[in-house]
Amino acid sequence: MSNEKYEFFKVIQEYLNRASKVVQLDPAVELMLSQPKNELIVHFPVRMDSGEVKLFKGYRIQHSNILGPFKGGIRYHESVTLDDVKALASMMTWKSALMRLPYGGAKGGIKFNPRNHSNGELQRITRRFTHALGSNIGPDYDIPAPDVGTTGQMMAWMMDMYMNTVGHTNKQANRGVVTGKPVASGGTLGREKATGQGVVHCILEWAREHRFNLEGSTYIVQGYGNVGSHASTILGRYGASLTAVGDHSGYLRSPEGFNRHKLAEWVKTHGSVAGYPAGQAITREEFFATKCDIFIPAALEGQIGVAEANALDCRMIVEGANGPTTPEGERILLDRGVVIIPDVLANSGGVTVSYYEWVQNKRSESWDLEEVDNKLEIAMKRAYKEVSDFSRARDVDLRMAAYSVGLERLQSAYRERDIFP
Ligand code: GLU
Repeated sequence: MSNEKYEFFKVIQEYLNRASKVVQLDPAVELMLSQPKNELIVHFPVRMDSGEVKLFKGYRIQHSNILGPFKGGIRYHESVTLDDVKALASMMTWKSALMRLPYGGAKGGIKFNPRNHSNGELQRITRRFTHALGSNIGPDYDIPAPDVGTTGQMMAWMMDMYMNTVGHTNKQANRGVVTGKPVASGGTLGREKATGQGVVHCILEWAREHRFNLEGSTYIVQGYGNVGSHASTILGRYGASLTAVGDHSGYLRSPEGFNRHKLAEWVKTHGSVAGYPAGQAITREEFFATKCDIFIPAALEGQIGVAEANALDCRMIVEGANGPTTPEGERILLDRGVVIIPDVLANSGGVTVSYYEWVQNKRSESWDLEEVDNKLEIAMKRAYKEVSDFSRARDVDLRMAAYSVGLERLQSAYRERDIFP
């Protein structure tokens, strides 16, 4: 499946359109939500280690702030396009609404490959991008976070830059300008694993609902970065075994199960699964055809097209990534009875714990891990139940149910506030 041909924003608009019919959304509300509020594109120069100056293209798309400040990650990837960021920003709006967070939706990114740059260059790129965004971000206006290709370290640079430029009059009150920061810089315990943890809460809820025993079950993971590795590490504690894995560098299979901790360590130090000294190398096609109970796509959008949907031999897909399943792929999978726990629910643990970080920053508090974990568990279970109940009651798939629950919340806010003048 080629990413170039995947019109991600159109796909998300189509989901909005379908869900609007389910909840009989006011056409004016659908119209307003069909496009982002603001689209910002910046070009900024950065000096490379060689002395050469390079120009970078950065985006920040602010989709909605009807429920609270714009909120969403920053992606560093060579394939970042305006269209993708618009799609991802919209999804943040549904995600925040579904999770009852006082946030809207946004997403940003820079089109470049962070793997090709030194730490010093990454720092200069991040700081210069933050400078270019200027007062278009802020702790009560628009709050970035990590996404594909970005880390807590980059969030610390963004926060520091913002504090020392735009928000310098009241530095301490500006810690919450970004979330997903390292703990010493004002991050929260539990944020790093939060998305993966949320993925596992969804699996546990589904397993409970369907009396499925995870002990002895198998799962495969595409993408072993923050989301994939944490989901995998946590899921393994319930007796499930990781039998195939892969990322941009290639795919591996191990019928007896990988040591998920060692694999996570390897990817952290080497940047990918390439060269991992266990399992056997397989093709992407063989990976998708691996028989398993659970598939966790945790890489990029548009990965599960028609061919992959036909090949997959699993009972459920839990979307750790945003938009991994194409509508064509989804139709095939649903017809085959494969359960798909949609991205806006499955990976919402990340932004939920971002919210806990932001609250702690506002109140100058520091919660222990147990408190964060307990709150996340309650939030994920509640959202899962709402989506599952809606899906059963209205006979729609889980994606439409998740969109519908979020949209109903947005509709109420629009009804109560109305449009000015
Ligand atoms: N980038 C993550 C997402 O897609 C997290 C966003 C956040 O924490 O604001 O949900």
